[in-house]
Amino acid sequence: MTIKLNLEEVSLSGIAGKRPIIVSGPCSAESEHQVVETAKQLEKLNVHIYRAGIWKPRTRQDTFEGMGSVALPWLQRVKKETRLLTTTEVANSWHVNEALKYDIDILWIGARTTANPFAIQELADALRGLDIPIFIKNPINPDIDLWIGALERINKAGIKKIIAVHRGFSYYGNSNFRNPPQWEIPLELKRRVPDIPILTDPSHICGNKELIFEISQRAMDLNFDGLFIESHIHPEEALSDKNQQITPIELGKLLDKIVLRSMKITDHKLIDTLSQLRTQIDHIDEDLLDIFEKRMNISETIGKYKKVNNITIFQPGRWQEIIEKRIKDGERKGLSTEFITEVFKAIHQESINRQNRVMN
Ligand code: PEP
Ligand code: MN
Repeated sequence: MTIKLNLEEVSLSGIAGKRPIIVSGPCSAESEHQVVETAKQLEKLNVHIYRAGIWKPRTRQDTFEGMGSVALPWLQRVKKETRLLTTTEVANSWHVNEALKYDIDILWIGARTTANPFAIQELADALRGLDIPIFIKNPINPDIDLWIGALERINKAGIKKIIAVHRGFSYYGNSNFRNPPQWEIPLELKRRVPDIPILTDPSHICGNKELIFEISQRAMDLNFDGLFIESHIHPEEALSDKNQQITPIELGKLLDKIVLRSMKITDHKLIDTLSQLRTQIDHIDEDLLDIFEKRMNISETIGKYKKVNNITIFQPGRWQEIIEKRIKDGERKGLSTEFITEVFKAIHQESINRQNRVMN
């Protein structure tokens, strides 16, 4: 079922209908010079909105927690001296009131705040009756309902210009990413809340400069609406998130390199070709279902033998043998280890469920 929010297009200074919407600026506002100089360089690019954090939610204390309200006039200068709109992060009602005193154009709600319904409700109450666009980042944990809950609370307070920002999800263990993107979650958000624009934040997904282009291109290929990328005039001196910030020059090159592909298919020959290929995929999927059905029936038969002979369902040696062989065979067919592992884990789990039913 889809969710209908009461939304209006964000139309400030002609950014309505722009794709991609580009938001850029430093992780944190650090000095008046850094804020204004970064903005002047970004203004020359295809950037629409200038971001800078003033109150920074930090994991550990004794790290830079942002300049606080003294930095608000710096953002006001950016607004006066460039064509850029301004945005900063707010996490409580006091931040909202401070930011509004300095005419910040758009407020953003960070990932740690979205995860907390009390904080979201406090923000919704502080925003009630205002006409200001709000960016809402995904919660740090991969919980789509928590994200949708925040969108709903802010919308219910009368805010109609809402843009979701996908910044990846925290995890425990090894990953190439600081916050793995788990693309299926923002895609599911698009399915469940079709009217909400979604920007991608490659900076906080990647945590390093190297992967930012790849993630930005992927976001555009998946038809998201824009990018939220950190940029600093001297990233190596940044007081927060220095590994992932790029210079305005680097950002310019990155934006030039991005290929924007069209969502609308108008060429009739192409439409025919795609529809033939999709029909083939539909047939193959039907065959896959038949094969799954056959495989599960055999698993059930094995389950019956296990029951009669009183042996356990799970046989670790057999599972190890299956997965190793399938990965090897898959490799020869150009199928990745991750894919084969996921598919066969799911098949194996379903077999166990079936045998469990037979046994008990
Ligand atoms: C940020 O944008 O600098 C930030 C703190 O982001 P997030 O809330 O996504 O961690
Ligand atoms: Mn940051």
